Amino acid sequence: MSTFQHIKPAGKAQFKDRYTTKAAELLTPWEEGKKGDIAIIGAPLSKPSISHSGASFAPDAIRRCLNSFTTYNIERGTDLAEVDARKAIIDFGDISMHPTSIEESHQRIYESTKAATSTKAAPFTIILGGDHSITTSTVKAIKETKGTVGIIQFDAHHDLRNTEDGGPTNGTPFRRLIEEGYIKGEQLIQIGIRNYANAKAYHDYAIEKGVTVYTMEDVRQPNSSITELIQHALSQLQDKVDTIYLSVDMDVLDQAYAPGCPAISPGGMHPDMLTEAVQVALKHPKVHSMDIVEIDPTLDIRDMTSRIAASLILETLIK
Ligand code: CA
Repeated sequence: MSTFQHIKPAGKAQFKDRYTTKAAELLTPWEEGKKGDIAIIGAPLSKPSISHSGASFAPDAIRRCLNSFTTYNIERGTDLAEVDARKAIIDFGDISMHPTSIEESHQRIYESTKAATSTKAAPFTIILGGDHSITTSTVKAIKETKGTVGIIQFDAHHDLRNTEDGGPTNGTPFRRLIEEGYIKGEQLIQIGIRNYANAKAYHDYAIEKGVTVYTMEDVRQPNSSITELIQHALSQLQDKVDTIYLSVDMDVLDQAYAPGCPAISPGGMHPDMLTEAVQVALKHPKVHSMDIVEIDPTLDIRDMTSRIAASLILETLIK
């Protein structure tokens, strides 16, 4: 009998059930020529945040949370690890950030997102933030690889702040996209915008530029579902753009479900509603990419917010 039979490699799971596959086992490091069902790339940048944020730790936390899920979907009767139909998440790893220059970090996010999507390693790409400032860079990259971009933004905030007061912060990504000419206002649909979380000047700016804004009250209308709202948003964008990008700021969720977001507040969405919205959007043939931003794992409780992000990644594998 071997003396080492009870020793396992450090960092591996304590227990392995022969019939259970963990979702993290679907992660496959990218190599030239490797293809998968979705691709992920981490953009661990939170220095441009206007409040304290450790969102740079989120890509690792979200990947780790994939260990908390199995690959079996009981309701659909499907297994993502099914023999002969096993799904693969191509993992490009994380973009290395400049230690002090935010502009240089944004440039690296743009270049790396462009490089990753240009490989065509997967038909769907997820960028894991980081704070919301990354979205200007990722959308610029997507525009160059896939053509004109329509955006469905899930967020408590407009993120249309002026740049004179603070430069390219996490409050400005969509304003920068509009002002720098990468999108027109009519190519942006904001969902979940919340009371007492924005300034009137930025709502006025949104309306003036032709941005479509759905507040939480619009989302909660008893006579129309989130499915109908998203279908309407998709039909509004589909003829104007070549590709549709989902930008998921986790602070669109109510503070009860997203304790890891720096800008939590009451009156937000339930995670089931966000999941339904993403599921509906994923069915559209022009939806090719998504970001998940604004999770600070150092503020989170038992990775609750990162776990929701991990579950959204699993939804994209069903696309
Ligand atoms: Ca935001």
